[in-house]
Amino acid sequence: MKAIGILTSGGDAPGMNAAIRAVVRTAIYYGYKVYGIERGYAGLLEKDFREMDLSSVGDIIQKGGTVLKSSRCDEFRTEEGRAKAVEILEEFGVGSLVVIGGDGSFTGANKLSQLGVHTIGIPGTIDNDLAYTDYTIGFDTATNTVIDAIGKLRDTSSSHDRVNIIEVMGRRCGDLALFAGIAGGAESIIVPEMDTKTEDIVKKLKTTQKRGKKHSIIVLAEGAENIEGGALGLRSALTIEDKADVRITVLGHVQRGGSPSAFDRILASRLGNKAVELLIEGKSGRVVGIKDNKVIDMDIDEALSMKKTFDDDLYEMAKILSI
Ligand code: ADP
Repeated sequence: MKAIGILTSGGDAPGMNAAIRAVVRTAIYYGYKVYGIERGYAGLLEKDFREMDLSSVGDIIQKGGTVLKSSRCDEFRTEEGRAKAVEILEEFGVGSLVVIGGDGSFTGANKLSQLGVHTIGIPGTIDNDLAYTDYTIGFDTATNTVIDAIGKLRDTSSSHDRVNIIEVMGRRCGDLALFAGIAGGAESIIVPEMDTKTEDIVKKLKTTQKRGKKHSIIVLAEGAENIEGGALGLRSALTIEDKADVRITVLGHVQRGGSPSAFDRILASRLGNKAVELLIEGKSGRVVGIKDNKVIDMDIDEALSMKKTFDDDLYEMAKILSI
């Protein structure tokens, strides 16, 4: 019986450890040997394998980051690199591989599957930018991290009658800004998917100021390129046009850390368990995800070709609630 390998790749996300735990425990439950591969595809090419037993994944469900570490690996992008990866997996008797990561890592996993290695992808990214799944592992925790920061900034903004622009991650996806903005009661939410202009924010602030509100929270997604000059440009406009005292907080990598939320731990457990079940059924070149609270799996190519849709209704609701 061939062994199962597991690695985490690309940007890390809270909940990856819970997924590793689920994969290792499920595989061992069904009698498989499991190798943890350190530092993603880079560790694979450097034969950085360690056999995982039940206790190697004990006490990690609550930990942020990934105990297997993660990396980006250019060599794996080459045909030679991937051929070498196949040889190494063969050498360790690994016939199947679970890859936890984002779209780039999935593309790599798909290419390995075309070379005969059975691969399954588990979505781990705080960006929630994969169209085929309602949620990716890490998104919920990151949302909670952002609302925690909004709460603290709200306290001090209100004491000083300040406007706070909070820049959040998400790459080209506005989900993190939208969800955190709604949950944090932000006055304005700016996302890449909507054509919000600086003038719109200036106008909005004037309106809220008129009704006596002196402090404001503006959540700005990092990928919202329609705002000229980004957070700095927006601050200048609000300072000049609205005479506001504006501060900028860029949350940065703090959003990638922290103990995973209950939601992320449960999601990661379900998806890790499903990934191994698919491998046992002989499936390959697939990704697992969640749709309407049901665990699903899909062909990687199909999943990656889907275009992420933005929840316009939720965005419109946020606007109504922040008038
Ligand atoms: P993420 O998985 O978070 O989207 P990246 O896009 O950085 O992160 O991808 C992680 C790693 O996956 C890359 O460093 C590379 O090793 C591998 N990878 C990404 N794209 C490809 C590709 N087109 N072909 C082969 N491997 C890829």
